[in-house]
Amino acid sequence: MADDLQRETTEVLQRLVQFNTVNPPGNERAAIEYLVSYVEDAGFDVEVLACVDARPNLVANLNGADDGPTLTYLGHVDTVLADPSEWTHDPWSGDVADGYLWGRGALDMKSQVAAEAVAAVALGRDGWRPARGTLKLVFVSDEETGGDVGAQWLTKTHPDKVRSDMLLNEGGGEVFEYRGQRRYGVCCAEKGVFRFKVTARGVAGHASLPRTGDNALLKLGPVLEKLANAESSFEMTEGPAALIEALGGDPSDPGAALRQVAETDPVLLIFLEPMLGVTLTPTMAHASDKINVIPSRASLAIDCRVPPGLGEDAARRRIEQVLGADATDLEVEFTEKVVGNQSPVQSDLMRVIERWVSANDPGAQTVPVILPGFSDSRWFREAFPECVAYGFFPTRHMDLLEAAPLVHSADERIDVRDLGFAAGFYLDLARELLD
Ligand SMILES: [Zn+2]
Repeated sequence: MADDLQRETTEVLQRLVQFNTVNPPGNERAAIEYLVSYVEDAGFDVEVLACVDARPNLVANLNGADDGPTLTYLGHVDTVLADPSEWTHDPWSGDVADGYLWGRGALDMKSQVAAEAVAAVALGRDGWRPARGTLKLVFVSDEETGGDVGAQWLTKTHPDKVRSDMLLNEGGGEVFEYRGQRRYGVCCAEKGVFRFKVTARGVAGHASLPRTGDNALLKLGPVLEKLANAESSFEMTEGPAALIEALGGDPSDPGAALRQVAETDPVLLIFLEPMLGVTLTPTMAHASDKINVIPSRASLAIDCRVPPGLGEDAARRRIEQVLGADATDLEVEFTEKVVGNQSPVQSDLMRVIERWVSANDPGAQTVPVILPGFSDSRWFREAFPECVAYGFFPTRHMDLLEAAPLVHSADERIDVRDLGFAAGFYLDLARELLD
């Protein structure tokens, strides 16, 4: 059975990778149509819902005899771009070599779509039906640029068709080892985005006579230095506190917990630290438009991420903490404000995931994690506040440190053994929750 799941998930993923769904423009129709024909044969009621004809979404239901919860497997079929000249294998080949399946989307997230579809189809084809409730598949277009015609549109335009009580999506599941124990991150929350611009003012002048003006650009030097050298920041809300506890630390002393991580595994620190507080990352700079004109204004664009549940106050607190007195001489203007979202760390769904992990990787544990970015879970949590949504695509052979740098990068690939492992999870989960 496990071998069959691995073989079939590998085949479905190869097909999905071979559809070029780079977004923009996406052009996801062919990939969605392929999935429609694949799940239709297994007894699902399938509907295609589209805001834009070339970019449809699939909603498929396997209904039980009695009313009960809806368990949804969500995934997006669009990808970010890829430059074939940087790849060992063509990004749209789906080549299987050296134990990996290579291609854009092999991790983010055609692999999960394939595993979810194969698990659901295996159940449906065998004649399994939920004893109560519904197993729902939602495969969408347009995640990478915000979901305007994908998940956001679906949850707003057709809420009754995608209403979910429990939902599995991307954002977690890669195993990592910490202090001798294997741990699987279950993504319970996503950080908010509070991007802003910092502007310094001066007086314009001719660049050949430096003292004729007051160079605004030079005022950003100390700002950049402070951003580069900022100490860690901590906001101990539910998610970060649960994560520290799961790693054996004390949430009332996050600094000590982080030092412990730094000593044990400095690479892991790169992923864990941003989950615990507000991050400020300068990414764009602008000053004079002419090389011979001293700028009267200069600005930095700063990508700021705030732990779930917190808002602009937390971002402003952090700005003052890092920039100190400089903050008062600068203009700070927010250009994007999105509060992060979360599901409870404790739930029936979490308990079932925990049980599955310890049964299928003896000795391993789950750990609640927070995504520094965001995904389509955001739209489902917003539309259905009762829905418990987690990011979980378990990979046992390819760990977090190997997988994470490949997402959105060249040579994105997945260990084919993990395709069977993950499909087994989605299959077992549906039986456990809906039987
Ligand atoms: Zn994704």
